[in-house]
Amino acid sequence: MQNTQVLVIGAGIGGLAAALALLRAGQRVRVIEQVNDLAEVGAGLSITPNAGRALLALGLGDVLPGIGSTPSMGVVRHYATGETLVTLAQDMSVEKYGVPLYHMHRADLHRALLAAVDAIAPNCVVTGKTLRTLQLRESSVVAELANGENLEADWLVGCDGIRSTTRALLFGAETPLFTGYVAWRGLVPASAMRPEEIDPPLCMTLGPRRMIMRYPLRGGTLINYVALTRRSAWAEEGWSVRSQLSELLAEFADFEPRARRLLEQTPPEKCFQWGLFDREPLPTWTRGRATLLGDAAHAMPPFTGQGAALALEDAVVLGRAAGVADSVEDALARYERERHPRATAGLAMSRSRAPLYFADDPSQQVRALGAGMAEMRTLYDYDAGTVPV
Ligand code: FAD
Repeated sequence: MQNTQVLVIGAGIGGLAAALALLRAGQRVRVIEQVNDLAEVGAGLSITPNAGRALLALGLGDVLPGIGSTPSMGVVRHYATGETLVTLAQDMSVEKYGVPLYHMHRADLHRALLAAVDAIAPNCVVTGKTLRTLQLRESSVVAELANGENLEADWLVGCDGIRSTTRALLFGAETPLFTGYVAWRGLVPASAMRPEEIDPPLCMTLGPRRMIMRYPLRGGTLINYVALTRRSAWAEEGWSVRSQLSELLAEFADFEPRARRLLEQTPPEKCFQWGLFDREPLPTWTRGRATLLGDAAHAMPPFTGQGAALALEDAVVLGRAAGVADSVEDALARYERERHPRATAGLAMSRSRAPLYFADDPSQQVRALGAGMAEMRTLYDYDAGTVPV
């Protein structure tokens, strides 16, 4: 199938990757994004080998080394004593999976995807436009925007994230499920830390029912961390919920000095708190000529680090399905047949790993995490560029 008109809702990681994959497969694409300005937002993302392969399939192989940090040595530490519980030797990702494991700033990956889309179809991404309602017709989809404008396309892909309007319009509104976990995300300039405090570059500090994970971004000039704990309730959902640094420091007050110093160095305007929500899996993602992709289809907690990875995989498979299908319906069926089971399994795995991080005893956590690595392999081995579609 060639030259169909696709409307993509949302210019996040999934939406831009889908646009790129569909353009490369010879489709015409328009992306609408609700925010006016695609400014620098977010913090670090893990680009595990399966995500790296998806980016290679999207033709971004050349940009990855420039925007990604490849962690070398890492350690797992005891929260109170600072003792090393496990040493993670030199990164073995290339040997094991054929692709490095990268960490990158979400904004850098976002910019690279946008540049690649722009290079093929300048101005196909339009900002300041919000989807409000949808009409599913026999041979098209009409999106009505908040400004009253109507956009008609042969088919539509809802990539509008965890609070997806497309999903609610296609399958009914749902209440997001609070997972019981909250995270602080912070970015600290490496220059604010003493070199020995951030050596080795990758570190997970495990404490009773809490953990801190840190890794470098942007050539080691920034340290990204995620500090996780439990909460019984949480009301706000979003990526830019400001938090009081004092609350974070109180939560991790019993952690060893190097871990506490990192938290203390967080610029107050870069301290965000994030309640972890997910959604129950949907039995199907597609209605008529509209489907879902990324968090809109399968939002999941970050315990396997797969939010962006699965969105990238979805995009590659969707592009390939469009390229080989003989109709829109055929493309959507091929996409969903390959991606629905994979993403549903990924969601289940992510949910099941949460208790591994939140046991009472750090050495028990280390054992459980080690035992879970074989399961992670099934995620990392996937190649969206070659799976049958
Ligand atoms: P998202 O990346 O969430 O993108 C969804 C897009 O759809 C957004 O740009 C949103 O504005 C747009 N949108 C929503 N509703 C509408 C509508 N009705 N009409 C038009 N557009 C709409 N993950 C991390 O692991 N670390 C981070 O630091 C991090 N920071 C993030 C910062 C932001 C601002 C966002 C939006 C997401 C962030 N994420 C982060 C989430 C991560 O990007 C996603 O989990 C993953 O990449 C899947 O991407 P997605 O495209 O499905 O969703």
